[in-house]
Amino acid sequence: MSLIRRKRCFKKSLAGVMALMIVLTGCVNSNSANKDHESKQMLVIQHATIVDVKSGKLTKDQTITITDNKISHIGSSDETDIPDYAKVRDAKGQYVIPGLWDMHVHLEENYKNAFPLLLANGVTGVREMGAAFKNIDQWNTSIQAGMVAPRLLYAGMTLNGGPADDAPHMRYLKTEEEAREAVRLNAEKGASHIKVYSWLPRPLFLAVMDEAKKFNLPVVGHLPVEVRASEAIQLGFKSIEHMHGLFIATSSMEDEIFKTADMSDLLGYSTAEIKASSNYDPKKAEKLFRSLKEKGVWPVPTLTAYLNMAKTEIDSRSKYVPTAVQESWAEIIRATPPEQTELVHVINSLNPTMVQKLNDAGVPMLAGTDSSYELTNMIYGVTLHDELKLLVQSGLTPLQALQTATLNPAKYLKREQDLGTVEVGKLADLVLLNKNPLEDINNTTTISAVVLDGKLMEKQTLDQAVKTYPVVKVADIKVKPTDPNAASNKIILHNH
Ligand SMILES: [Zn+2]
Repeated sequence: MSLIRRKRCFKKSLAGVMALMIVLTGCVNSNSANKDHESKQMLVIQHATIVDVKSGKLTKDQTITITDNKISHIGSSDETDIPDYAKVRDAKGQYVIPGLWDMHVHLEENYKNAFPLLLANGVTGVREMGAAFKNIDQWNTSIQAGMVAPRLLYAGMTLNGGPADDAPHMRYLKTEEEAREAVRLNAEKGASHIKVYSWLPRPLFLAVMDEAKKFNLPVVGHLPVEVRASEAIQLGFKSIEHMHGLFIATSSMEDEIFKTADMSDLLGYSTAEIKASSNYDPKKAEKLFRSLKEKGVWPVPTLTAYLNMAKTEIDSRSKYVPTAVQESWAEIIRATPPEQTELVHVINSLNPTMVQKLNDAGVPMLAGTDSSYELTNMIYGVTLHDELKLLVQSGLTPLQALQTATLNPAKYLKREQDLGTVEVGKLADLVLLNKNPLEDINNTTTISAVVLDGKLMEKQTLDQAVKTYPVVKVADIKVKPTDPNAASNKIILHNH
């Protein structure tokens, strides 16, 4: 999510990533080479400490038996028999958590870079939040051809109104019939959810909500600026991205803002939210938070997206990001007006206060980053750990933060029988950590191995699949004012 956007015209350097992808693919398929044991593939993780992300309980010296892609047994290591054909992984001193989910990413054309980065960071599932159909075809084709990828749920194209720009992932809708047709097209494309955007007019939003119900698809995204949070919640809107509208909805000025504020672009919208925040109405908030809980609506704070928008240098961890992308980020940073950076600083000071209020009120949240290479410093996978850290800084306990990326996504997806905890019967998506994440949330980065759908990938293998590049410095980017494609000439209001 960004207040600005530039036309992207960088080329990807894919050869290296492709080559290393073979390492990953090879690793994951290696078991299938052994035909004898194909019917009883077994991975055993021994001597692990299991982190119960429901209760925060740690159970030491456990053996997790994984048959095919599911956890088939968990028991104390000294009492669990191991068949001789099982592959055994010693996890002595290590902590096992469920695979992490990033509930707000944009893969665009970056999937060959994004998938290995996500997996290397323990992200075994992503909710994609708006892409062109040709990108969806690329991901699906590559995954079907054997590319190793996190579990992927996607929205199809983002449904928006207002004047069309050249964003390839958006449909700019004018009529209710178009809105219904757009829902149908996304559903046909295999969408798991329908993403709406800020400028979708209220009557079209109502049509989208109604049509999506017919396909049993949740509607998520930006709260359209014409729609009040209270109304969207009652209608069954499923997740509120970037906490949009929550400051306005908890303000005594809500009516006035809806009557008078210019919310025709995101700068105006953000300004209205900031204004609203100074007139916080605790009674209104209590009612709103209660309805979020009762209706099962999930706020997705994406704190890390806002934080990165205020950065004025390329993150050193951008070594994982192709040089052309880093250069485009440097151009965005250079072209961002200081007043916008100031505004984002204010948003960054307010957002944690809303997260804290939601958490104090017992409203569960989802971890999402808004990772996209159109947004500066939004490195796939890496940013999810930043988000967890920011949630803790906003008042969540490390356990609650961990839940936003494990248990809560499983609940949102209504897939608690498969996902979200380390328990018998669930899909074997696991992360092995060297340090206890409940002691310090930063320890989610101490990844030793990842299990995806029952397949073990050691950190070394995961890292080999991630290419590195020199880190670009903003000051090193030469401004080319005569270049009509230069970022400085292409700044337009936009968001993800
Ligand atoms: Zn987004």
